[in-house]
Amino acid sequence: MRRKDESKKPIISDFINAFYYEHDKVPSVREIVEGTGIPLSTVHRYLVDMQEKGELSYNGYRSARTKEMSEVSPIHGIGILERQEYTGCTVNFKTYTNSIWDKKQRENPDENRAVFYNTHPTIIEPEVFDKVQEIRQQRHRRTKTGKSHVFSGLVFCADCKAKMRYCTTRYFEERQDHFVCANYRSNTGTCSAHFIRAVVLEQLVWKHMQMVIDYVLRYEVFFRAKMEQRLRIESSEILRVKRKQLDKAEKRILELDKLFVRIYEDNVAGKLSDERFAVMSSSYEEEQQTLKANAETLRQKIEVQEQQNQNLELFIQKVHQYADLDKLTAYAAHDLIKAIYIGAPDKSSGKRRQSISICYDFVGFIPLDELMKQETA
Ligand SMILES: [Zn+2]
Repeated sequence: MRRKDESKKPIISDFINAFYYEHDKVPSVREIVEGTGIPLSTVHRYLVDMQEKGELSYNGYRSARTKEMSEVSPIHGIGILERQEYTGCTVNFKTYTNSIWDKKQRENPDENRAVFYNTHPTIIEPEVFDKVQEIRQQRHRRTKTGKSHVFSGLVFCADCKAKMRYCTTRYFEERQDHFVCANYRSNTGTCSAHFIRAVVLEQLVWKHMQMVIDYVLRYEVFFRAKMEQRLRIESSEILRVKRKQLDKAEKRILELDKLFVRIYEDNVAGKLSDERFAVMSSSYEEEQQTLKANAETLRQKIEVQEQQNQNLELFIQKVHQYADLDKLTAYAAHDLIKAIYIGAPDKSSGKRRQSISICYDFVGFIPLDELMKQETA
């Protein structure tokens, strides 16, 4: 490529990524041209150049996929990621037939399938698989221009919780693109104008992401402690006590079973009167019922705690992967963030103020202000 100007590269690669997340497929060159407004010959020249530099793979005429996407689906592209078997577990009962007369195989809903984990070597990490399913399930409306946004599918109205639509036209300058609450647009009268310009949202969210990443990397111990408090994660000492209690309850439940057998045998052998047997067995029964209920509560509590704990660790690990992230990408946004909630604008102070809450994957809202305050205190 004679041309030294590389300014359109990020526009093209961002478009490819965003398109991929929004439409579940790789954009054609034609779609790149339409979505970015860059002429066909220029797009082609850029793609060839990026292919030569190893920045993406472009087969010369049909479609281009970026490195970022190749990391998500390293083998045969996207087909593989829909199949749970590739994560190293075996799925049975995927289909069923209605009756002996209806031989047509029907797809069984996920909840009726039996999944056996870790039965054969993993090709794709389960976390990656789950994430991709989540991203792929977010079906988006395609804007008329075929353009999409790095946050597509992530932006919600804080009041009615509806998805906010990304609105753009090909003739608009980038800074005119905006998100607006779907319920406002459709004039159902159920919601007010939660309008926000895309460029403003990008700047704010990207800044927040950078601050979170920076904070976690620098003050990991403190961040963990603070989030444990926030997620009400109990100390390992309390958790240990609970596990002990559960263990004790389970042992006693088994013991009561044995005792019951013993009095039953004694009763049959005539060593224990019927009246005595009735009293003892009902008292054992009662004790066992109470223990079973307690054990169940304990088990659930422990499970929730372990899950929360694991989620926090997974989030911290994930942040470490983005230590060198120097620009906002659709993948990073979808990987780290679960949802972005946009509040209604408040003009009471004379200035237009709007609240934006970012719900991060695994941990939810991160009280950055609070963390920063304590850091400087
Ligand atoms: Zn709304």
